[in-house]
Amino acid sequence: MNVPLLDLVAQYRAIKDEVLPAIQAVIESQQFVMGPAVPRLEAAVARLAGATHGIACASGTDALLLPLKALDLGPGDEVITTPFTFFATAGTIHNAGGTPVFVDIEPDTFNIDPAAVEAAITPRTRAIVPVHLYGQMAAMERLGAIGRARDLPIIEDAAQAIGARRSIDGQWRMAGELGRAAGFSFFPSKNLGAWGDGGMMVTSDAALAERLRTLRLHGGAKQYHHDEVGTNSRLDTLQAAVLLAKLPHLGSWSAKRREHAAFYTRALADLPAVRPPVVDAANEHIFHQYTVRVERRDELYAHLKSQGIGSAIYYPVPLHLQPCFSHLGYRPGRLPESERASGEVLSLPVYPELTRGQLDCVIETIRGFYR
Ligand SMILES: *Cc1c(COP(=O)(O)O)cnc(C)c1O
Repeated sequence: MNVPLLDLVAQYRAIKDEVLPAIQAVIESQQFVMGPAVPRLEAAVARLAGATHGIACASGTDALLLPLKALDLGPGDEVITTPFTFFATAGTIHNAGGTPVFVDIEPDTFNIDPAAVEAAITPRTRAIVPVHLYGQMAAMERLGAIGRARDLPIIEDAAQAIGARRSIDGQWRMAGELGRAAGFSFFPSKNLGAWGDGGMMVTSDAALAERLRTLRLHGGAKQYHHDEVGTNSRLDTLQAAVLLAKLPHLGSWSAKRREHAAFYTRALADLPAVRPPVVDAANEHIFHQYTVRVERRDELYAHLKSQGIGSAIYYPVPLHLQPCFSHLGYRPGRLPESERASGEVLSLPVYPELTRGQLDCVIETIRGFYR
């Protein structure tokens, strides 16, 4: 049996009758740039994220880059983040003019360790960028307290966490709600994927929202007048229409992912070579990835592949050990939890359309490997 890591064709077949007319309506209107679907999507995603403003942009990368640019970082300004993430988290810090400062993760959740954040603060620290990795929120209440005490803004990398939430003081708080700003990605493989690139910034700070809107349009609030140098980072109306058509399904898709995750976790419970992901009791995980820690990871990956089962290693090299950051002087052994995770993690298929037969097949194949 074939079990791909992700099957976007299965999703397409289920929703094409809703998405194709929405695309056709944009084509009929010929309003390809900043058409009415864009502000509608901005409002809907902001509402979902518990924020007052949504600013659509060209990618999840830009959804981090522009809020970081709005910090006006100068040479030597430090931004504390996790090395166990997709490259864009730190690449955008660099491209916004800052210096990424990498601190280690909590081994259970794979998210940035707030105690390590606190220990890394210096007089040059300007911001903190946590990542809600795999769809589970970082400890925002602790990071928020650290940030407030030192007046450091938190920019959430929420690319993998749209609709994820965390119970804080008995109240649900959304990914994107508690940071100064947050960035979401609509890359096709994300939980809410466009049919191309796309991203969304959210914030509840009206002045920041205005600045982000300006930065996405070459730094000019008024056409042909430029207060600062921005860029062109708009979301196509076509992509906004696709995303608006898909958005009503997001909740049930995330619920399906959670169901599949619970199934795997039960089915793997008696297998000592495989450690299922730990969900922090405060979190509602959206399982962008279902990521286990395993023994003989690379062999298991090859075995699954040979049996037609897709899996992936997110991420094989932590960012503090990437050649492009060698000038920062991190050596192997410096951030041991991130380095250990890079050697042990494997993400299994968890997309909503998986069948019971496919789930059983993944489990049986893993069991067969360790038997
Ligand atoms: C996908 C992703 C991004 C970047 O999003 P793009 O839309 O691909 O530019 C940033 N951070 C994380 C953690 C991601 O997973």
